[in-house]
Amino acid sequence: MNASTNIGGEACVVPARRGRAVRLNRRQSLKITNTHGHQVVDFWAFSAEDLSEFLSMEHLRATITSIFPKAGDDLVTNRRRPILHFSEDTSPGVHDTIMAACDDYRYGLLGCTEYHDNCTDNLHAAIRRLGLKLDETPSPFNLWMNIPVAEDGSTDWGEPVSKPGDHVVFRAEMDCIAVMSCCPQDILPINKGNPVEVHYEIIG
Ligand SMILES: [Zn+2]
Repeated sequence: MNASTNIGGEACVVPARRGRAVRLNRRQSLKITNTHGHQVVDFWAFSAEDLSEFLSMEHLRATITSIFPKAGDDLVTNRRRPILHFSEDTSPGVHDTIMAACDDYRYGLLGCTEYHDNCTDNLHAAIRRLGLKLDETPSPFNLWMNIPVAEDGSTDWGEPVSKPGDHVVFRAEMDCIAVMSCCPQDILPINKGNPVEVHYEIIG
């Protein structure tokens, strides 16, 4: 068993600023807990059979006709098939589907002159640890990321409105690989300036 995977036991950790990938069999669920309440988790899911089929924010928004997925929704792939069912959400339901994952270029534009941990590299590193390789970085489902959208369409960078211990649960609708990255963003306020760890459990 992979050391970062825990089936039916106590929760595992996604360390601050790092990513983890887990395999889910169809009908298994993944519970992700915002341990401290203010951490954004960039989240991806890929078909275990073909990594070129993945949870797609563009296709999801078209399917649910909203930019805010909520518990009860099926989350679909770029082939418009459900890959996960969004089963539970104890938080106020403020998540983001429109912002790209952070990357080293982003931190360069924010003034960093040295390498900065980032969700894009966390995704690819987590997938590599499973012996796999990705060619692209799909748009993430940014759990607990608070991006207020004004009536004129402008956006802002808010702090999470979730509280410690809030959790989401996703049930696999196909065999898949789920990836979580504790966003290392410490310049914008999206993690209250203090990136920390979260916990997860595989259920079933
Ligand atoms: Zn990030």
